[in-house]
Amino acid sequence: MNKKKQFGFATRAVHAGSAPDASTGARNTPIYQTTSYVFDNTEHAASLFNLQNFGFIYSRLTNPTVSVLEEKVANLELGRGGVACSSGHAAQQLAFTPLIKNGEHFIASRNLYGGSLNQFTKTFNNFGWDCSIVDPTKIENFSKEIRPSTKFIFLEALANPGGIIVDIEKVSKLCKEANIPLIVDNTLATPFLLRPIEWGADIVTNSLTKFLCGHGTSMGGIVVDSGKFDWSNSSSFPAITEPSESYHGLKFAETFGDFAYAMKMKVDVLRDLGCSLSPHNAFNIITGIETLHLRMQEHVRNAQKVAEFLENHKKICWVSYAGLKSSPYNSLAKKYLPKGPGAVFTLGLKGGYKSCVSLVEKVKLFSHVANLGDTRSLIIHPASTTHNQLSDEDKKLSGAGPDTIRLSVGIETIEDLIEDLDQALK
Ligand code: PLP
Repeated sequence: MNKKKQFGFATRAVHAGSAPDASTGARNTPIYQTTSYVFDNTEHAASLFNLQNFGFIYSRLTNPTVSVLEEKVANLELGRGGVACSSGHAAQQLAFTPLIKNGEHFIASRNLYGGSLNQFTKTFNNFGWDCSIVDPTKIENFSKEIRPSTKFIFLEALANPGGIIVDIEKVSKLCKEANIPLIVDNTLATPFLLRPIEWGADIVTNSLTKFLCGHGTSMGGIVVDSGKFDWSNSSSFPAITEPSESYHGLKFAETFGDFAYAMKMKVDVLRDLGCSLSPHNAFNIITGIETLHLRMQEHVRNAQKVAEFLENHKKICWVSYAGLKSSPYNSLAKKYLPKGPGAVFTLGLKGGYKSCVSLVEKVKLFSHVANLGDTRSLIIHPASTTHNQLSDEDKKLSGAGPDTIRLSVGIETIEDLIEDLDQALK
């Protein structure tokens, strides 16, 4: 086989990381349902603990099934390495911990999943991680907030609850000028539709719970390191550049080069926070990713048709889907997401809060759940659920006002989805 050959996305979704099992020949990735691994001898054990050798020690840090998943997602995101963990929220804590300390600062887009806004402004604030939330539509909103203590910028390129696209290339340029990493949550787009690293992101997070797993069965999260941020060129990230007390003075940047941040997350942060992914969930997510490309094509095709139907419906005030020509984000969608701007979007109902509650109760095929990215079509009223913890003003600003419904369009037969919404709206 030609070693230089670049395989296509579909081939990599099926094969990346998933070689036949070396000891048994099992073609599918086995679920290594084990906590620990027998060492060859004491010298071998010591070399693993001292990071002189790569290998499996204990499943809080490393597990062969989880490693397959990490390699697969890192490959699809075009990153250097990935570290998987128990949920998308855990991935955000895992990603931030090596970069920021008590009393330091980061900037986040205001158009984020409501739970992330809450995590950043409440729990992370209690850690002393100060967060400025900015309107991402104007780049100067980010630059105005950069301070000497700012450690990174975080955004969702295709934002939850829907329809908004951030100009990542411009934010990435700003981060490069400030010499801080850009972290992009790619959950709603998935690497099939968008690869933030191609546009200058340094770190990518994903909730694996959503489209990557794709079937609503398993929680998971991952952080992908692009390997492109030059940690040694900055004194702002001592956890990566300075001697580590846990590893006899080892300097991650010096020892691991473009793999330093991924290693730091795995052997320090995952070890200490303990938010590991179970091998069974990793197996379910690996299986899901093998059909990601097929599912995402159906998801976006259906989403476009549902959005067009709703835009012309007399009971709907507005539809926020970047695939519609009426969307202010339509040109950014063409630039960043030429295969389609995802399958999660919002719509405004005439009749406000009461009509929203009624619609959610009257649909039959759409399931009323707090999730997205399932094969099934899902519906929710964010103001009373996913974004409930925000103030009324913040709900509106993050696109989750009282009249707003969020849909995650599944891969069912399109005529059935439209008929279901039509009967519920009537
Ligand atoms: N990022 C986005 C865009 C999400 O929608 C969610 C959850 O809905 C998360 C992160 C958090 O993921 P998890 O629920 O797996 O913790």
